[in-house]
Amino acid sequence: MDVHSSETRSYNMSQIKGKNTKPELLVRKFLHAHGYRYTLHDKRLPGKPDIVLKKYKAIVDVRGCFWHLHQGCKYGELVNTPSEKMTSKRKFAVQRDEINMSLWNEAGWKVIVIWGECQLEPRKKLSKKREQTLNNILNNLKL
Ligand SMILES: [Zn+2]
Repeated sequence: MDVHSSETRSYNMSQIKGKNTKPELLVRKFLHAHGYRYTLHDKRLPGKPDIVLKKYKAIVDVRGCFWHLHQGCKYGELVNTPSEKMTSKRKFAVQRDEINMSLWNEAGWKVIVIWGECQLEPRKKLSKKREQTLNNILNNLKL
């Protein structure tokens, strides 16, 4: 059973370790509008994190729910994967997330994980959840 429409699937396909994905752009735009400055895909750090805020020693890791198998999220369910190849790709992404996370933590970075689809709802024009998620980033940075 495939619960994803083909439209959803092609959207998911475009998000494969996408740089500059819609969810990532939403976060960047928000941070910028609030006066935060950041480095993108910093090669000096393991895993080239999406958004690095050096001043706060913080990393914002924007993950696509589908590719990063978001637990307990309808977009992240493994059962919806149409092919074997995709399944291993998704599992690989999760392993890489775990490795990166421990490297970042060891190096003393604060890591804020944002789930692209369910927390930012990129296809909605306005979203309460997105607003909350984005404001939470600022609260986390100030901690
Ligand atoms: Zn999710």
